[in-house]
Amino acid sequence: MTTEPVVDGRSAALERYEAVIGIEIHCQLKTVSKMFCGCSTAIDGAAPNSHCCPVCLGLPGVLPTINKAAVEYVIATGFAIEAAVAPTTRWDRKNYFYPDLPKGYQISQYQLPLAANGRLTFDTSEGPFTVRVRRAHLEEDTGRLIHDELGGRRVSLIDFNRSGMPLMEIVTEPDIRTAEQARRYAEELRLLIRAIGASDAEMENGQMRVEANVSIRPRGREAFGTRIEVKNMNSMRAVERAIAYEIERQAVAIDAGETIHMETRGWDEARQSTYHMRPKEEENDYRYFPEPDLPPLLTSPEWLAEIKARLPELPAARRARYREVFGLSSYDADVLVNDAAATSLFEATLEAGPGLSPKHVANWVTGEYLRLAKAAGNGGLVVAPEMAVLVKLVADGIISGTNAKEVLAEQFATGRSVSSIVAARGFEQISDAGALGAAIDTVLAANPAAVADYRAGRAAAVGFLVGQVMKATRGQANAVMVQTALRERLGKAE
Ligand code: ADP
Ligand code: MG
Ligand code: ZN
Repeated sequence: MTTEPVVDGRSAALERYEAVIGIEIHCQLKTVSKMFCGCSTAIDGAAPNSHCCPVCLGLPGVLPTINKAAVEYVIATGFAIEAAVAPTTRWDRKNYFYPDLPKGYQISQYQLPLAANGRLTFDTSEGPFTVRVRRAHLEEDTGRLIHDELGGRRVSLIDFNRSGMPLMEIVTEPDIRTAEQARRYAEELRLLIRAIGASDAEMENGQMRVEANVSIRPRGREAFGTRIEVKNMNSMRAVERAIAYEIERQAVAIDAGETIHMETRGWDEARQSTYHMRPKEEENDYRYFPEPDLPPLLTSPEWLAEIKARLPELPAARRARYREVFGLSSYDADVLVNDAAATSLFEATLEAGPGLSPKHVANWVTGEYLRLAKAAGNGGLVVAPEMAVLVKLVADGIISGTNAKEVLAEQFATGRSVSSIVAARGFEQISDAGALGAAIDTVLAANPAAVADYRAGRAAAVGFLVGQVMKATRGQANAVMVQTALRERLGKAE
């Protein structure tokens, strides 16, 4: 056993090593039924072992049938990452013993995955980066073991509800070099999978599981080092932290003369470090062989064309549309597209207010809305029709930008309508020329000294007069109109 290295992200060793990273992602697909049987996938919160049948319990003599929707989700994902979709794919048995795997094997895809050789491009702080995706395939999930205490005894319980749930596995080439690139890859893939509707891909509840294979090599050397598999990261932040930790841990270990052995390590969120879980299985331990109970799956050109035609607008295309059609900055397009709630609020606001400037709407969504949503820990009540009303009130000069922020905050907190908040708070600006004219006349009559100052050439006096009009109207006068009207009047000879 070795002593724990000091890993603080600043090790001098890091400068001499380069990391090589490959990512494996499992996503629970959003189908109605399980992968090879008719059991419902609505297992969240269900009583243990309430969503099982002889097929997903692995009883002898049963036959699996293929879930078409699951296959379509993987093919759609394949198209979205520019992968080649195989005309014929096969199912294989991955054999191993574990109590959560009732058949003693998992049905997966080995030599002929549904999709292969794709790529995904995304932005990083150092510019755009492309990762090659080796494969995307389908498999079934295992059951879940629960280690607990019953009547003072330590017991292990098994819940087979998750057994046979459809999983898509997506594996990259070892193209990634930094922890940030790895996180960004996973974020972009999650966005894409959500856009397709293949999975909700929430990491906190295991719908999306990210595993990182990490090795390091001296800078300038071509051959890869021995990789370590890291799992149990339950947020994107954890993915980046775990990889950064692992890179440095390996650098410190190698510098201390240690040899890296293949192993699976877990991320400990509380300690912000990785720990040894088990030595890594060799590939041939699984003794893959073709699944005899399922025929090869043929993907006809017509079927593929149909799936391709159904693809929604993907994140990259949406960003490009926001830039090119709406004239948004790259930054705004990114912020909008990278947050699903912001995307839908932006799109729905434009729909609710067809005449609005997309730039104005983008400003309010990326600025105030996201600020409020973040402060509230997500969620929030801004609905598009209200946002549309607010942006229009500001654009028409009916309320000031400063007051509009208060209105939005109150709308967000209470759900009340923008117009009722504006009315209740008396935020409506006086933009009516007649009403403004009367207020200005009163102020001019009451401040002859300032008027004289202005006419004597002291232009700054107009600021004082504007202030008096604002005061007289309790801040509701349209300040720009007041300025113009004052100048017009004062410029005239008596
Ligand atoms: P397994 O299925 O046993 O985990 P794979 O060969 O499928 O192994 O590789 C899993 C992941 O590990 C892939 O994403 C691959 O790019 C990555 N990988 C392979 N070799 C290395 C390495 N030396 N360093 C880092 N990642 C690697
Ligand atoms: Mg692996
Ligand atoms: Zn079943």
